[in-house]
Amino acid sequence: MTTAPPTTGPPTTPPAAQAATNTAAPPADEKRALVIMAHPDDIEFTCGGTVANLADDGWRVSFCLVTSGDKGSKDDTLIAWDLGRMREAEQEAASKRLGVTECIFLRWPDGFVEDSAELRATLVRVIRSQQPDLLITWDGYRGFNHRDHRTVGLVALDAAFPLARTPHYFPEHADEGLGPHRVNTVLLAGSREPNYFVDVGRQLDRKISALLCHASQVQATREELSQRMRKRQSEAAAQGRIPWAEGFRRMTFGGAGAPSRTAALRAQAKRDPNPKQTDPQAAQQPGTADHPPDRKEH
Ligand SMILES: [Zn+2]
Repeated sequence: MTTAPPTTGPPTTPPAAQAATNTAAPPADEKRALVIMAHPDDIEFTCGGTVANLADDGWRVSFCLVTSGDKGSKDDTLIAWDLGRMREAEQEAASKRLGVTECIFLRWPDGFVEDSAELRATLVRVIRSQQPDLLITWDGYRGFNHRDHRTVGLVALDAAFPLARTPHYFPEHADEGLGPHRVNTVLLAGSREPNYFVDVGRQLDRKISALLCHASQVQATREELSQRMRKRQSEAAAQGRIPWAEGFRRMTFGGAGAPSRTAALRAQAKRDPNPKQTDPQAAQQPGTADHPPDRKEH
């Protein structure tokens, strides 16, 4: 876990977030995914099954939470700082259920995430240190929703393209041993116009287990959550779609510039000429299912 100094004050307090710094070159054949979301539990609701698929398939997956959800309670006796630490612990437990071992908590104040140069620099630093082939984040164009969701989605997408790949943006990162990095694929979660669907049928139990780790947010029992998902399954099945799917808006970025590990990925593709649908690097899958974000709004 990597944390930053606490920032639970008003938005006038500059968030002094520090991302993890990892200057060690990853193995050439290692596939890496980074999930950047606004609050603890965003990942489990929108893409927990996809993350579990990636972990099972040998991907190294890291989570980055911009806030720790320190406003996410109706209990006014709770101290924001304590709530934030409680939700970080819940996120750590959920991450382990999904096969993810690293959570980066930036501790921006919940509800006060702004599209600033400071946040762009911070997310570029996270991308350059984690070196993901795949980025998953909120769809910032999804319309009315929690403002942190919109802002994090837009800034993370900007950070992936073109900022992180271009050396003239935030060249001071070189002092930390971080060079430009090219993200190949982005999956936007919670999209109103999904064009890529991941079959998560084998991960339902893990997704429910991970959701239940967020006890401060999810009051439903396992059975209630399971019934809710079964209801969605029957609705989706009735429309002739994938019963258990998570939907995304998928974007790919090619071109020259920053170093990437596409050669290794191509070699991997040669070894596996029939990539699974669950591999986001594989060719785009036509829409076969629609899976609205399985989450409450907070
Ligand atoms: Zn959220």
